[in-house]
Amino acid sequence: MSTGVTVQLEMAGGHSSVSIDLYNSVTTMDDLVQERVSRLQAYEHDTTFIIANIGTLYSQLSKWKELMPRVKPFYALKCNNDPVVTKVLADIGLGFDCASQSEIEQILQLGVHPSRIVFANPNKHMSHLRFAAQNNVDLMTFDDICEVLKIKQSFPNARLLLRIKTRRHFRARHTFNKKFGCDPCLVRSLLIQCKQLSVNVVGFSFHIGSLPEENSYFTTTIADVSDLFQIGEELGFRMTILDIGGGFPGVDTEKQSFQKVAKEINEALERHFPTSRGVDVIAEPGRYFVTSCYTLAVQVMSKKVVAESFEANDQNVKMNEHTIVNEHIIVNEHSHQNGHIYQNGCAPDNKLTLDSQSEHTNGDSHIITNGHTSANGHIQVNRHTSANGHAILSNLDTVEKHRFQNGLSHENGRIERPDHETAYVYMYFINDGLFGTFSNVRTDQLVARPSFLKDCDTKAMHTSILWGPTCAESDCVMKECLLPELRVGQWLFFQNMGAYSVTQACGFNGIEPPLKFYVCDQKTWDLISHEIDLAASQG
Ligand code: PLP
Repeated sequence: MSTGVTVQLEMAGGHSSVSIDLYNSVTTMDDLVQERVSRLQAYEHDTTFIIANIGTLYSQLSKWKELMPRVKPFYALKCNNDPVVTKVLADIGLGFDCASQSEIEQILQLGVHPSRIVFANPNKHMSHLRFAAQNNVDLMTFDDICEVLKIKQSFPNARLLLRIKTRRHFRARHTFNKKFGCDPCLVRSLLIQCKQLSVNVVGFSFHIGSLPEENSYFTTTIADVSDLFQIGEELGFRMTILDIGGGFPGVDTEKQSFQKVAKEINEALERHFPTSRGVDVIAEPGRYFVTSCYTLAVQVMSKKVVAESFEANDQNVKMNEHTIVNEHIIVNEHSHQNGHIYQNGCAPDNKLTLDSQSEHTNGDSHIITNGHTSANGHIQVNRHTSANGHAILSNLDTVEKHRFQNGLSHENGRIERPDHETAYVYMYFINDGLFGTFSNVRTDQLVARPSFLKDCDTKAMHTSILWGPTCAESDCVMKECLLPELRVGQWLFFQNMGAYSVTQACGFNGIEPPLKFYVCDQKTWDLISHEIDLAASQG
């Protein structure tokens, strides 16, 4: 549990401070989430929140220093630009990979020396280049003569890293070869042009891809780039920096661990860049540092139960579309609102009969939305009415197999449904989604894995779908998955949500971003605060 001690972290310029709650070594994430849920419920909040555990930043750096001491990390700010996270990373000594003027500004405002920044965007705005020049952020990447000409004009003394393409067969969730990098076979001619323009090329950079499939990509590329260093040296450049980019795992899996990656990189460096070669090695890790820092807690806002008749594909989930039964009726999506059931569908003859009162058609033989409710609030589906308005069952003579859509969740979260062979899908709507903190589910094809607080009964699992809060059907956090039955208001949490989550959120539909609570275990905080004091004393 929390120790009850809250410390203040002074932010840039000493103008403001942020509270960090300290906890002791036996505290679990469940405890931390539960504590904050209780606090919030006292105020009847139904917002989402993030628990940012800044102790993980320190432990990731310790692991890095222990396992790959030769490589100096420049954290890729694009991955998560949380001001507290970046402040702590700066205080414990990291360098930064910035992609734009505003990212550079954020880091300079922390008091970080410009030599601890690499401007690692091969295509820079001219004004951002001028800003870099004014602030002496002189280490930067390029991959084409066009960029060299811009740099020559606005920052002729800059130190340049030539970014190369990696091998074509490399597979990763995010590859960069189409957009970035000079083909290795063009390196010589580009370097000759650089020589003619008298710009200062000091080394090479590459990125094997984010979430790569193989660790060996680092080894292969380090070997490839070693030959390119020779070309640069032959042309008279003093090549002193190798930037091995990002692509380090944020959490270890069976297949990939940071330990294995580090071992392979160390060996490749030893072979191709022994220290006697005089090359400093830097990297641009993003997700490695921040993935485990964030835990996101969300609440179930709404719930409904539908018959299991959906197809899931990679992009989105289509519910009950085109369930053609006996060529007469197509029973499609349904949803309920305010206790009313809306039922959609189409029939092959362009007609959909919902009840005895009306007929609906549309031009292209598919009816998209229709809905009927009887006056007393009970639902009529093809002249069948449910007994109490809580559950409905159609039983059409024309339909051979029992494929109907049913289900209505009560306010208390219990489900009543007919005793029927049809399997059901539990649909939950939570208050954060793919346009918010779960944006990494969209871009990383991340499979979100929820954890539940202790009060959740996890014995029986049901086929479920977790939808985000916006109006977009693509806002699906978990496609077909197994979850315990959840109730409206229930909290669940997702760990390892620190990478490419908040920085990519766009606030679509006006959904508020999560609150943030910063925490740290007491022992790690002592170590971090020691580093902060040290950094302050060194100015
Ligand atoms: N460096 C550059 C230039 C990048 O584009 C990225 C990610 O897009 C990174 C570093 C960070 O990569 P990762 O988060 O996989 O470590």
